[in-house]
Amino acid sequence: MITAREVDLSNCDREQIQFAAATLSHGFLLVLKEPELTVVQAGENAAGFLGVPPDAVLGQPVASWLPPAFHASLERQIARNHADGPPLHVGDTEIAGGLFDVFVHRSAGSLILEMEPRSRYSPEDGFNMYSTVQATIARLQQAQDLQQFLDLAVTQIREFTGFDRVMAYKFLEDGSGAVRAESVADNYTPFLGLHFPPSDVPLPARRLFKMTWLRHQPDISYKPVPIAPENDPLTGKPLNLSYALLRSVSVMYSQYLKNMGTRAVMVMTLLKNGELWGLISCHHHSGPRHVPFETRAACEFLAHMVSLLLAAKDDHEDSEYRAKLQATYAEMVSVLALSGDFVNVLVDRRPGLLDFIDAAGGAVVIQGVPTLMGETPDAEQIQRLVEWLTSKNEDVFSTDNLSQLFPDAAIYTATGSGVLAIRIASSEADYLLWFRPEFERTVNWAGDPNKPVDVSFNGQNLMPRNSFAIWKEMVRHRSQPWKAVEISFAREFRAALREITARRADQLRVLYKNLQRTNVELDAFAYIASHDLKEPLRGIHNYAQFLLEDVANLLPEDGVEKLRTVVRLTRRMDDLLDSLLHYSRLGRQGMTVVSCDSNKLVADVLDTLAPRISEAGAEVRVLVPLPPVLADADRLAEVFMNLIVNAVKYNDKPHKLVEIGGSVENEETVFFVRDNGIGIAPEHHETIFAIFRRLHSPERFGGGTGAGLTIARKIVERHQGRIWVESAVGAGSTFRFTLEMT
Ligand code: ADP
Repeated sequence: MITAREVDLSNCDREQIQFAAATLSHGFLLVLKEPELTVVQAGENAAGFLGVPPDAVLGQPVASWLPPAFHASLERQIARNHADGPPLHVGDTEIAGGLFDVFVHRSAGSLILEMEPRSRYSPEDGFNMYSTVQATIARLQQAQDLQQFLDLAVTQIREFTGFDRVMAYKFLEDGSGAVRAESVADNYTPFLGLHFPPSDVPLPARRLFKMTWLRHQPDISYKPVPIAPENDPLTGKPLNLSYALLRSVSVMYSQYLKNMGTRAVMVMTLLKNGELWGLISCHHHSGPRHVPFETRAACEFLAHMVSLLLAAKDDHEDSEYRAKLQATYAEMVSVLALSGDFVNVLVDRRPGLLDFIDAAGGAVVIQGVPTLMGETPDAEQIQRLVEWLTSKNEDVFSTDNLSQLFPDAAIYTATGSGVLAIRIASSEADYLLWFRPEFERTVNWAGDPNKPVDVSFNGQNLMPRNSFAIWKEMVRHRSQPWKAVEISFAREFRAALREITARRADQLRVLYKNLQRTNVELDAFAYIASHDLKEPLRGIHNYAQFLLEDVANLLPEDGVEKLRTVVRLTRRMDDLLDSLLHYSRLGRQGMTVVSCDSNKLVADVLDTLAPRISEAGAEVRVLVPLPPVLADADRLAEVFMNLIVNAVKYNDKPHKLVEIGGSVENEETVFFVRDNGIGIAPEHHETIFAIFRRLHSPERFGGGTGAGLTIARKIVERHQGRIWVESAVGAGSTFRFTLEMT
């Protein structure tokens, strides 16, 4: 058991401060035996206060020092209260010529009587405690938010207690604490905003804080008064002083207060839903200060009220944030449902990623490519982080100490000490990330943190500034923690995004299906239309022909010419219909994909085209060997045929040169047909593939229908390939196409 005698910084967490076996010195304590109320234990200062020799206290009935009426009322109090609990004020009475407030309580089988001289700082005349407290509470109720509420509480408490400094101190989740509000006399260093490590308020102290609402030490430099005998002779156990007003405090605590320059202190507990939320700590620096019982009672009452109101304000703060999260969430989800462009919605528009969860930076990562906003690590660092996150395979990931889990992050703790990440559906490298900087950088600095510290205790410093430094070390490379509500909203947001992506994929599937059907219908329509048009066209052609043969001599010269035009136009239209028929058939016909020897295939095509080529005086070079492919051989031959014919046709050079080649690149077979012909302007590189689009009249380079390239593209696409042209006017053209089915 560690008691006041053995305590130091290393074990103060285990110090049994309730078994102090000593009291403060401004009052005195007696332990009584029932029913006769004789003294079985007493503080060593009791005899002095009672004006009797030291050995004339133990065994004596208290009745010998108390006025009979007061003794009777004490007996009544005792008879009424059987349970352990905080001291009851029996009243004030004169003892041995002095005026005392008398308190009684039970603790673990002992009956404890405490006598405290009436404070010299009695409430001033006309000071009405009730109305002061009432006015304070009314003001507190009107506070807008938690900060204003705490500011008001400390100001008010300082006003009517007269302490030099009053602080509202909040415990954080990790056990550390921060000064959230402070009212301090002008000439003292403010502590507002300072953070303290958990060791500054050790566990035993926290436990006792929960048991009593208010503790008061009128003079820090008191000499602890031992209680004799040390153990209660009735129970045989050490006296439990958990509730005692006069309990001597830990020497560590006194030293800490002294180092702060504090001479008197009063601490009130702030509870939220039964748990320790924080403290209101009143310090007096200019001298000892004994707060009268009435004022303490009022402060205690105020602490109760502050605790009750605080729960509401604190929850309100949470609920406001929750409401903000909810509203932003709803707005972003509805915009995303319409747009689906994550980067655009989350980065470029408001509300975006950073309006949602509180963070200094954010990133939207789509297929491993980050788009950044705010203060973040750089793109490359984020890419590596995403790789690491992917390997963790968690849908929602959060940490306030990234570098501890992922050492690479140690170089960017200034921006990325904390990260919250959600993985968006489907692709694994799609993430939303929020970043928080190192906590230390976000602390509200108060005073000069580098102020030298020269006071030490047992070689270890116990000073607010030092504590702050210890705390800073504790939170190095850490960010503000992510709240549970933020993580749960991130999780919900992810679910919503998943639904949106899934719905969009469904929509695309339906669109694609419709498109496929429409394509088939169009092919069928083109087939029927062209097929049925051929019949009447043949009639027109034949009759025009008959007329020319039979009655040409009866017609004037220009009439005959017109008939010839009719015949020529019907022929052309027949060609167009043939092309259309052919094209529509391509979409409907099945394909016979076989492994083709493209060298032979091209050689056959060139054989067929030999008369045209030699007629044009062109030279065709095949850069052998061509790679083998899987394709429908007839269709592939048609592609080569169209491209070679065009290469020869659209050529005005004296030495027309056509080159044919092929290779395998990135597991794709790419063929090309290159000419040194007239070339094609860039703006036509796409249009030439549209049906019946021709850049030249049939007369100029020999007639075509304008369907050749359209057919070539259709065939290539049916082989899951692509076809395109690289060309400039006058510089020749290179048509390239890929075939996936290798
Ligand atoms: P056409 O039957 O008129 O040749 P295509 O669909 O094969 O129809 O070609 C469309 C148009 O593209 C042609 O009218 C021509 O103007 C242009 N074109 C095609 N191939 C070449 C080429 N190798 N060099 C220059 N222009 C070309």
